[in-house]
Amino acid sequence: MSFKFSCADCAAKFCQQHELDKLPPDCPTRNVGSEAFKAMYSDADMQMAHMAALTECDGYGVHTRLEDTMGFAHRMGYKKLGIGFCTGFSREAAILIKILRSTGFEVESACCKCGSVKKEFIDIDQQHQINKNRDFEIMCNPAGQAEYLTSRGCELCIILGLCVGHDTLFIRHCNAPVTVLSGKDRVMAHNPIGALYQADSYLSRVHTFIKDTFG
Ligand code: SF4
Repeated sequence: MSFKFSCADCAAKFCQQHELDKLPPDCPTRNVGSEAFKAMYSDADMQMAHMAALTECDGYGVHTRLEDTMGFAHRMGYKKLGIGFCTGFSREAAILIKILRSTGFEVESACCKCGSVKKEFIDIDQQHQINKNRDFEIMCNPAGQAEYLTSRGCELCIILGLCVGHDTLFIRHCNAPVTVLSGKDRVMAHNPIGALYQADSYLSRVHTFIKDTFG
């Protein structure tokens, strides 16, 4: 397998110190350049980046991600928020919507099963259902969640516990900005990074998974 250097392989992080004369080969800062990167920001992007930086500064090491989410939305002047959640996170969604409403936001939500479309629509047969004993299962509908929330005028959509791939579709179909409060990881108590923190013991499991899955 060929190895290609990238940021994750770079321990020095010269970009962080603005030491541009020391940039390694095949470095994004060297390849593209600061000016070209700056040109990628529209005025709206600049404003969002500004508010995100203020949110980061204000809450650094103090605010939870939920507090940061509310702070960022408030700074951006968003009045109406949308929650796209997994039905497995129904309890959490009910708590979240109460908190957001109590702080003055108008909030809409859409669960992943909205639309009540059977999995046969996406060519999933009974053998590939989660519960193989049921005649049918309802598919997750991330495209529908996202489009519904944006059609209702949500100015910022919050992903809560969507599965891998479903979150991808949600983001693709959402015309409003998206942020993630939580991903889905049924093994790691919905803290996917836990797998990285125990990488020493976990890596052998990853290798087994890759061998079993990809041969
Ligand atoms: S941008 Fe360049 S210096 Fe910064 S982490 Fe990536 S490779 Fe390293």
